[in-house]
Amino acid sequence: MLIRCAWCGCDMGAKEPMTNVMVTHSICPQCLLDVDVHRASQSLGEYLDRFTEPVMVVDVATRVVAANQAMSQRLGRHSRTLLGLQGGAAMLCRYASLPEGCGNTVHCRDCSIRRLVEDSLCNRSGSVPTPALLHHGDQDISLMVSCHYVDSSHGAPLVVVRLEPAGPTPTRAIC
Ligand SMILES: [Zn+2]
Repeated sequence: MLIRCAWCGCDMGAKEPMTNVMVTHSICPQCLLDVDVHRASQSLGEYLDRFTEPVMVVDVATRVVAANQAMSQRLGRHSRTLLGLQGGAAMLCRYASLPEGCGNTVHCRDCSIRRLVEDSLCNRSGSVPTPALLHHGDQDISLMVSCHYVDSSHGAPLVVVRLEPAGPTPTRAIC
């Protein structure tokens, strides 16, 4: 299976099973470095705007540090209003508006995006695009979500969260 950087398109080699001709996407070391550099210069939002897919960057408390225009449009709100919000609140997860809030409701244990972010932070790694369901208002929206760990030299680690067109039937709900 070929591995390609989903950000710059560079070739990142291959992984098992080698007989699989599919392409899987990751993020290359240079693109991770770019995220860190733009964070330091407070231009992370502008940097993320080069990507056509919805992308946001969250901190270790899963609060939004930056979001691109595509993410703002996807969520129907200005990127400035997303900053500092918990991920579920930013994505208008219906459970995030419960009194317990994003991360503390009974539904949050099954939240795929929260789990992907926490796994990225815990394992200092990333995830391949994973099917997920966004509980957006009264709609359930199918998405593919991938996360990438950024070991920042300018502060605490960050996680890049990227939404992609819906894939197969979701197996888990996300906030
Ligand atoms: Zn790259």
